[in-house]
Amino acid sequence: MGGGKSTLKTIGVLTSGGDAPGMNAAIRAVVRQAAEMDIEVIGIARGFAGLIQGDFRRLHLGSVADIVHRGGTILLTARSEEFKTEAGRAMAVDNMRREGIEGLVVIGGDGSFRGALHLAKKGVPVVGVPGTIDNDLAGTDYSIGFDTAVNTAVEAINRIRDTATSHERVFIVEVMGRESGQIALMAGIAGGAESILIPEIKVDFAQVIERIERGRRRGKLHSIIVVAEGAASALDVSREINRITHLESRVTILGHIQRGGAPTAFDRILASRLGARAVQLLAAGETSCMVGMEANRIVHHDLEWALEQKKEIDLELYHLANVLAL
Ligand code: ADP
Repeated sequence: MGGGKSTLKTIGVLTSGGDAPGMNAAIRAVVRQAAEMDIEVIGIARGFAGLIQGDFRRLHLGSVADIVHRGGTILLTARSEEFKTEAGRAMAVDNMRREGIEGLVVIGGDGSFRGALHLAKKGVPVVGVPGTIDNDLAGTDYSIGFDTAVNTAVEAINRIRDTATSHERVFIVEVMGRESGQIALMAGIAGGAESILIPEIKVDFAQVIERIERGRRRGKLHSIIVVAEGAASALDVSREINRITHLESRVTILGHIQRGGAPTAFDRILASRLGARAVQLLAAGETSCMVGMEANRIVHHDLEWALEQKKEIDLELYHLANVLAL
């Protein structure tokens, strides 16, 4: 699927839900791919909220200059309760028609895709681009922002490791992931964690303690435990360790530090490929789908199907993490 002319004249693009590094690279790819196909792009501010308010701005080639390396989103993002109502969505569709927007690229996570599906069902051509640090969407190996978030967490763990070693302490690092252990698993492996606690697998405190004690017996000076926020509270884990082992443990909650920052090269390239493909799909008359990358190929899937799937944690990786922590 290449460039070339299309009968499509104008499309819209918005970013919605939690921001993710690389969203800007995706917006840029949408605008540049569209320009190559003589399609105008309208940027919608603050996601679905801007669609309801008619907060539109024309995006030119220059509007997306100098943003490939920036975190966050130049289009701003928001959560819109109004869009969850039929009246709100009707207003959004009216505004799009009035503006001549014939297709929409929605960059966001699971919730944003659900909103996009509603629009598709109202007859608006929509393509979803997975943008969320959580990497919890099916239909793609990675979502935009995940790689950057993992690298940010690993950077933090590296620093904490120096202190953990010097003071011979146990450190518990809490990372984002209410329902998904993707960040914890990857950051834990790359950061050399002794234990990784994720929501997908029942927390076994006895095993966590056993690992710490086993490490001590063979002369390990420190232990690092990575906890996804949805698996357990890092403070509870710390209290439990202090109670049972009488070792000193410290807690670091990374929080929103993981959201921002310059996207990694991986995220920039992923975002560029996905953004461009989304435009090509709209121009080819596709709708109600999401783009993704599987085994390094850009693919697309039916949006409703993708939302019904559950992204499973890679158990092989989880077991590898346990082996590496021996
Ligand atoms: P993310 O896209 O990062 O998962 P949210 O879950 O907050 O973020 O969703 C972003 C926005 O998408 C919501 O504020 C809302 O406007 C819209 N949205 C989410 N779920 C639905 C739904 N079931 N129906 C319609 N709109 C939805």
